[in-house]
Amino acid sequence: MAHKFRTLLDLCRRRGFLYQSAEIYGGLRGAYDYGPLGVELKKNILNSWWRRHVYYRDDVVGLDTSILTPHPVLKASGHVDEFTDLLVDCTLTKERFRPDKAPALTTDKNGHIPITAPDKDTALSWKKAIQEQFAPHVKITMEGKRILLHITSVSQPGARGQNGKIVFDMVDPNDTPFELPYHGYVEPNTNSPFLTDSRPFNLMFKTFLDPIDPIDRVIQTTMDHSNDTKPVIREAVDEVLKPSTVYLRPETAQGVFVNFEQVVRTMKTKPPFGIAQVGKSFRNEIRLEHGIFRTPEFEQLELEYFVAPWEAKHYFKYWRKERYNWWLEHACHPENFRQRDHASDEMAHYATGCTDVEYLYPWGWGEVEGVAHRGNYDLTQHIKNTGANFEIVEETQPAFSDAVKESGEGEADLMPTELPARYVPHVVESSCGLNRAMLAYLCDAFHQVEDGKGKPPRNVLKLDPRLAPIKCAIMPLTGKSEFNALTQKVAKSLRRKGLFTVVESQKLKIGKRYYRHDEIGTPWCITVDYQSLEDDTVTIRDRDTGSQERVHWKKVHQVIGDRLME
Ligand code: ATP
Repeated sequence: MAHKFRTLLDLCRRRGFLYQSAEIYGGLRGAYDYGPLGVELKKNILNSWWRRHVYYRDDVVGLDTSILTPHPVLKASGHVDEFTDLLVDCTLTKERFRPDKAPALTTDKNGHIPITAPDKDTALSWKKAIQEQFAPHVKITMEGKRILLHITSVSQPGARGQNGKIVFDMVDPNDTPFELPYHGYVEPNTNSPFLTDSRPFNLMFKTFLDPIDPIDRVIQTTMDHSNDTKPVIREAVDEVLKPSTVYLRPETAQGVFVNFEQVVRTMKTKPPFGIAQVGKSFRNEIRLEHGIFRTPEFEQLELEYFVAPWEAKHYFKYWRKERYNWWLEHACHPENFRQRDHASDEMAHYATGCTDVEYLYPWGWGEVEGVAHRGNYDLTQHIKNTGANFEIVEETQPAFSDAVKESGEGEADLMPTELPARYVPHVVESSCGLNRAMLAYLCDAFHQVEDGKGKPPRNVLKLDPRLAPIKCAIMPLTGKSEFNALTQKVAKSLRRKGLFTVVESQKLKIGKRYYRHDEIGTPWCITVDYQSLEDDTVTIRDRDTGSQERVHWKKVHQVIGDRLME
């Protein structure tokens, strides 16, 4: 599994899907650039989402709001105070450890790393700590007070004892190997060799809209308070920086909420209706993992669907299903996607329902999207802090919409009893990670095909043709100029239909050229051969079946267009 994933990552680099950002400067951890094919794949996923949720419907409109978000917006939404992860310090290098007594760290003949604890209880607590921090990369077997670490998702040769540390190689060679600085003997009575108590750590990136360098302000304030205590200085510095503090948004949703009234007014719409937004979000993640799965900078496809409170239950179910179906529609292996309902203690305090869509990545199940019923928390918070007019007012007694009537999921007891009826809409949110979607669909599409003759398997990306970066590759049978005119005519007819088309006239044999395109997921190769020169027909080769059909060159764009609509 790990080997297959490495082969896929290698393909992504080699064929222009994904590059390490600023690679010539040694790269920036967690930052990736999308190459010519990656950018197309990402755009095609985005377009499929936008088509489905905006163009195919009459109740959703789009929006594009600023990434820089002022402090009050994110204070009101709760992000300034609550958007945290728990940070744990590794204390192995501190006084609890006795490097002088450290045993040599080696792997045994089975590739396991044995660690011996002073007693069985300590061994159990170590096991728990290792699992918390390193699962699913490590499998652990206990033998009394001995722990055997078996590193699962690693590049060969797995974990190594090196300079008194265990170095785990990550699945993704772009990830810096993580290190478990195990120096050996841990003093008895130590509960865990790896973890301190946890403390909250805010995930938002802060910056300053200020013509004066904020560092100068900090220096000045610190000098002014040089005789004060650290907390007093901290407060003074916060105070002086506050007016210019802005954040890189941690989600696109808040931009939608603060524009709610403008959209209702300008589009003359009212619930049920949705606002779709696509864009970059930023989180200072404590742990970056699995290549583009978790990065500080990522893209989200978010839909905020506003509904009357008495219809919210219905629309939560509706969007839960709609979104899951969208994921399955593009999948080769639908069984590797699942929905997972959150337990009540996993949800934000204001949410009444949340379901993740998860994909079975090579390292285990991972979230690709969350669908949540957020109540009217966000709109209410912004009303409280600004007095904004986000109330919907109905002069006549509200009734259930046809869809809700049909489903029987309306909640009549939530309807206002007095006229005019006033309510703050509830919101059902679907929030999909575009980069995670790309990684999931790449893993899902990646196949290795054996030729049965003992040669190494060849790679095929069986991407849904709608997602494939290149739709058609046109191939003159040989490099002779006699094929040029017709090749260019076919290419032009396809490009005019908006289909990303390339001409492959390299000297490689036609079969090799087909295989090169199978590897990047091109669904159709069109060959211009000698018969084409006689009767104006060309062949269309299907990536997945290898079958070929002959059609008049003028019909190619129509045939391909129809298949993309299927
Ligand atoms: P996780 O639990 O994996 O950190 P989350 O529950 O915090 O995710 P949400 O806040 O629900 O994520 O964000 C919606 C979607 O945005 C996620 O389902 C995921 O696809 C994507 N996403 C969130 N954080 C990141 C990140 N750091 N890198 C890439 N995608 C992300």
